[in-house]
Amino acid sequence: MSDWDESYDFIVVGSGGGSMCAALYLRALGKRVLILEKTALVGGTTARSGGVMWIPNNPFMRRDGVADSYEQASTYLDSVLGEQQDAPGATRARRHTYLTEAPRMVDFLLGQGIKLTRVSFWPDYYDDRPGGSVPGRTVVAELFNVNELGSWKTKLRPGFLTVPAMLEEALELPKFRRSWKARGLMLRVAGRAVTAKLTGKRWVSAGNALQGRMLQAALRAGVEIRTEAPVRELIVDNGAVKGVLMIKEDKPWRTGAQLGVLVNAGGFAHNQRMRDQYQPGTSSAWSSAAPGDTGEMIEEMMRHGAAVAQMEEMVGAQTTLPPGSDVEDIKPSAQKLTASPHAILVDQSGARYMNEGGSYMAYCKGMLERNKTVPAVPSWAVFDSQFMRKYMLAGTMPGSKKPQRWYDEGYLRQAGSIEELACQIGVDPAELHATVARFNGFVARNRDEDFQRGERAYDRWLGDSFHKPSASLGAIERAPFFAVPVVPGDVGTYGGVVTDEHARVLRADGSVIAGLYATGVSTASVMGRCYPGAGSSVGPTFVWGYVAAQHVAAADRGNQDNNG
Ligand SMILES: Cc1cc2nc3c(=O)[nH]c(=O)nc-3n(C[C@H](O)[C@H](O)[C@H](O)COP(=O)(O)OP(=O)(O)OC[C@H]3O[C@@H](n4cnc5c(N)ncnc54)[C@H](O)[C@@H]3O)c2cc1C
Repeated sequence: MSDWDESYDFIVVGSGGGSMCAALYLRALGKRVLILEKTALVGGTTARSGGVMWIPNNPFMRRDGVADSYEQASTYLDSVLGEQQDAPGATRARRHTYLTEAPRMVDFLLGQGIKLTRVSFWPDYYDDRPGGSVPGRTVVAELFNVNELGSWKTKLRPGFLTVPAMLEEALELPKFRRSWKARGLMLRVAGRAVTAKLTGKRWVSAGNALQGRMLQAALRAGVEIRTEAPVRELIVDNGAVKGVLMIKEDKPWRTGAQLGVLVNAGGFAHNQRMRDQYQPGTSSAWSSAAPGDTGEMIEEMMRHGAAVAQMEEMVGAQTTLPPGSDVEDIKPSAQKLTASPHAILVDQSGARYMNEGGSYMAYCKGMLERNKTVPAVPSWAVFDSQFMRKYMLAGTMPGSKKPQRWYDEGYLRQAGSIEELACQIGVDPAELHATVARFNGFVARNRDEDFQRGERAYDRWLGDSFHKPSASLGAIERAPFFAVPVVPGDVGTYGGVVTDEHARVLRADGSVIAGLYATGVSTASVMGRCYPGAGSSVGPTFVWGYVAAQHVAAADRGNQDNNG
């Protein structure tokens, strides 16, 4: 095929997590790599994320003397995923590759000058299972001065943290009224902000720092990156993907890719038609995924015979939506809202129905499952004045005055008694009274006999380390009482095309679509139908980008040997 408008060695569709990782690997081998991003901003949902990568047995664990091994991580994945016959993204071969290549990918990034570290304590989400890690297996980027990007600095998709603080620091800051450590931290962060202003720096954190650092490295290495360059079609010749059709200056433009194409174009969180088909009862209005997450590349790969799997899965993220939330916004998390002391989640009958301390994916699955028998979307977070004084609510600081609009528009309900609150949220007062009384009984005995909340290190980490004797359980007893609605939002979908242990896209019969690789939430996740720990989406998008690039390089070497 010769009628190309231009030609590269390798094309990456989308500028998400794995994109720049794959590009850097191939660029280091001298390949010409082009990244095509359809929106005006680089970085995808990855850039607006926490930027946490779940990397078992990572070099920072070794640095800090935290025990882990391939075997321990493999035991853990087996214990949380099981066989997962109906999750072809999570085959044993792929789990093996993930666990082997993830720490190597981190070493590769470090070698490329990307500054990374670990969060010192973030338990796996099922830390009590065999092989679970209590300190956790997270890797994050160090703060990044976005001004180092020069003219590209305005093209990095903004993140969710507005203060120059590492994620670990940001999680501590809301305790400033109660902790000297948090006050000290606040002073340090404020000092950092002032020094930055005086020295012309602008620190960004979390996923923004990760993608900022990746963008910087990619640009320095000579990777070509185009924004506002949506890919419409894969160009296939003789059964193999040979290039893409994109839109360039409003015109179709055919670009060849001699070594193949990597699709890292996100999932379908903002495609309501696909949601209705695969995830009925969920809404794109509850999603915090970046606006470009519209699923067309998954459908384009399907058009060329790609098998899809795990399409019902999403990285659920319980969300509460105060008046004025916009569909493109990052939505306020409701995770700590009901996992903190003095709070519970109830369905529309007033019953508690889950351990509020579990992983966000499990939590949202629990809501959708419950909704099949008892109305539970939305459910209600029920809490008391102690909660209001000590903890954040929908992005507002502990103890702060809540916007009047929240009350006026019926978002935040307040009442002098549990029964009165029940009437306000349309729940049977006797039922809600009984639920709260039962929960308070568990608090008194320091044991949640219904759902074991607080028994995992992760549940307690989500709670309040100052609250004794339990970081997770606290009575709902001091008026006024409050309620806000909680919906099963998400930070992205988690199913897509089926790929093998080299990140090659497969047909339903298991054959490979030559020249086509995929990573990230465009694919059926290696984590199957489960979320083992923080970073189980950003970790895989990077790792499979790295794996795809290795396969491309090896195949190219093979071709050269055969030709030479
Ligand atoms: C607030 C928040 C916090 C989160 N924190 C974490 C965390 O700490 N750890 C974690 O693991 N997960 C986290 N997540 C989830 C995680 O960020 C995403 O699941 C993950 O980043 C998806 O990465 P990706 O590489 O698959 O896609 P993305 O990073 O979304 O990249 C896909 C890119 O492809 C582009 N694209 C789409 N279609 C086309 C097309 N046709 N042509 C060209 N370009 C196209 C999109 O515009 C987008 O830029 C968080 C999410 C949010 C919103």
